[in-house]
Amino acid sequence: KALIGNVIGEGHVNYVLMYNMLTGIRIGVSRCQAKMKRPLTDADYMAKHKFTFDIIGNELTPSAKYDFKFKDYAPWVFRELREHFHLDAADYLLSLTSKYILSELGSPGKSGSFFYFSRDYRFIIKTIRHNEHKFLRRILKDYHLHIKENPHTLLSRFYGLHRVKLPGGKKIHFVIMNNLFPPHKDIHETYDLKGSAVGREYPEEKAAQKKGAVLKDLNWIKRGRELELGPAKNAMLEAQIRSDVALLQRLGIMDYSLLIGLHDMKRGNKEGLRQDALQVVQPNNTANQKVANGGPPGQLRREPTTRMEKEAYALRTAIRRSDAKALNSTATAKLPERETSDSHHFIFYQDDGGFRSTDMENRPTDWIYYFGIIDTLTLYNSVKRSEHYWKSITHNSKMISSIHPVPYGTRFCNFLFSLVKGADKSKRPRMQ
Ligand code: ATP
Ligand code: CA
Ligand code: CA
Repeated sequence: KALIGNVIGEGHVNYVLMYNMLTGIRIGVSRCQAKMKRPLTDADYMAKHKFTFDIIGNELTPSAKYDFKFKDYAPWVFRELREHFHLDAADYLLSLTSKYILSELGSPGKSGSFFYFSRDYRFIIKTIRHNEHKFLRRILKDYHLHIKENPHTLLSRFYGLHRVKLPGGKKIHFVIMNNLFPPHKDIHETYDLKGSAVGREYPEEKAAQKKGAVLKDLNWIKRGRELELGPAKNAMLEAQIRSDVALLQRLGIMDYSLLIGLHDMKRGNKEGLRQDALQVVQPNNTANQKVANGGPPGQLRREPTTRMEKEAYALRTAIRRSDAKALNSTATAKLPERETSDSHHFIFYQDDGGFRSTDMENRPTDWIYYFGIIDTLTLYNSVKRSEHYWKSITHNSKMISSIHPVPYGTRFCNFLFSLVKGADKSKRPRMQ
């Protein structure tokens, strides 16, 4: 998949879908957010709120450009999850819906999922299959509990789960996640690592042609890559990976990977690898904008002065009042341009949105690593079992990627622990 997307303009095949997704998010999230906070109940995990949009509109739902239905799943739970991730609601809505612009990431891979970036590159919308959707709802409580107990988790951050139903009856489920890669930094190499050898190599000839190619396990090994992490950071990372993987094993999940982007500070940002068509990602980090949009809800302590502050303030007020009309008009407000969220709360995202390399004395060195565990909704099910059967006829069955969740997790951990400079490499999966 290309790392740089195509902006979806009017006339694009997925324009209507994008419009409907963003409209649903805007109305669904602001509705929930406008209510007084209350403790979660078990029913909240299974809740679904239905919205019917049409071109005329009614008291409950503002008019929209198209007719469609929208479902917001477990809105109260996701509201709490966003809070755990220190994501402010107004900020979230501004990023996604202040202008109806998304860019689409390449063409779908073998899973058939589509990926869309928010205009400021902070969020990713991923369409998911119906069984992934059902599974996420089923494990949402375990996931939520894990997030509460593991504030520094590396697992994908889910900010919302929704469904759009188009007039023909087609249903599209999607999640909103964090983009692990920052808008303001060049990522010099990207890897998607599973700890498996089979099919885990991106052709080097192709990689030389294509900037931003997503490389795999065998590329990492053949290129002799290592993470520079001193004992302190290495220990934190290992502990977090262990804890996250234990959850995935317990929930019967497999096929996930560690997505990792390397930023070489010596090379800096000169190559413009992140300059996508969105053009709204210049870091422009003034204190005013931070106050208006960065802090926790209700943090605007003085009168808004700049135009951007005023718009953010109006959006906040509209959210608070659940004022659909005001929300519709503020939705066209210009997005404040600034770096990223409150990443200083999270160990692995604290250095410019990532994790800075260190030497053996724990002194910082010249890399920033951007990583997280992604694609965490694949249940070890009959499909995988049959795949296992077919692959094991032709390959060493320990090395294929579709294996039972427990050995999958163990192999994943062993491989990740071997990535660090000075680590024992003997536990690496055997790569022929
Ligand atoms: P498959 O099941 O075939 O592996 P998928 O459609 O489920 O694919 P993912 O594995 O979730 O897709 O992601 C595919 C690619 O999209 C990743 O390798 C990565 O390049 C990019 N990607 C996914 N999630 C993120 C994220 N949170 N931040 C940045 N990039 C991401
Ligand atoms: Ca994947
Ligand atoms: Ca997948």
